[in-house]
Amino acid sequence: VVRISGLSKSFDGRLVLDDIDLEIRAGEIVSLLGSSGGGKSTLLRCVNLLERPDRATIELAGEPVFSGDRAVYRDLAELRQRVGMVFQRFHLFPHLTAIENVVLAQMKAAKVSEDQALETAVQLLRRVGVDHRALAFPEQMSGGEQQRVAIARALALRPAVLLFDEPTSALDPESTREVLRVIRGLAEYGMTMAIVTHEVPFAREISDRIAFLDGGRIIEQGTPEEVLDDPQEARTQAFLASYE
Ligand code: ATP
Ligand code: MG
Repeated sequence: VVRISGLSKSFDGRLVLDDIDLEIRAGEIVSLLGSSGGGKSTLLRCVNLLERPDRATIELAGEPVFSGDRAVYRDLAELRQRVGMVFQRFHLFPHLTAIENVVLAQMKAAKVSEDQALETAVQLLRRVGVDHRALAFPEQMSGGEQQRVAIARALALRPAVLLFDEPTSALDPESTREVLRVIRGLAEYGMTMAIVTHEVPFAREISDRIAFLDGGRIIEQGTPEEVLDDPQEARTQAFLASYE
């Protein structure tokens, strides 16, 4: 669904992504691992042009998004609808209830009626297990509940791919389990996803492929068994050793 090649990005003249090639095929789950500052978040943000690459070829479902040094997608708002993002901190609108967050996103992004948006929101809140919190405001919810609302909100836009940037790293263990359960459910349903995570056992369980990003380069990628059980690169070995 997403094909990235030759992606480079610098901040203030410092290269933080260096000639990245990465493909996320339909129905595939790709996890991105790597130590802090390696460029994982920047890479995800480049896919929907929250960051602008210096150079890249990016395609979404065969359609060009970025080519050379220019954005070429016809409609940036539509791009961000098709490439859903879930962040570490939940970014819900604080003055809206859970269900309003999910409804409003749809009404802003897509041409749906309020009735339709409400029906979708109810279904999705049920699917992520927070329908009982539909009328709560973000500050009245646990981190795990807020994150599940954020996932429902992203799903409401029917994205072609969902990108998760450390969706559980701000959560306590119980909330982490709840959110991972939701992501696992999406996987079973065939959702195409890329997930930046430090949850190595979860990445192993859920991923079709794991890419290890270090110093702005994908230094290693393969099946979970290949990358986690038999890492070839010293940096990958060191990273995994620090998690044991
Ligand atoms: P972490 O695991 O800590 O989240 P990461 O792999 O997601 O790290 P990025 O956040 O993508 O890494 O950062 C990659 C590099 O780019 C870092 O050196 C970071 O300081 C730098 N960087 C990221 N965003 C900006 C920005 N807006 N302006 C300047 N430098 C930035
Ligand atoms: Mg990051």
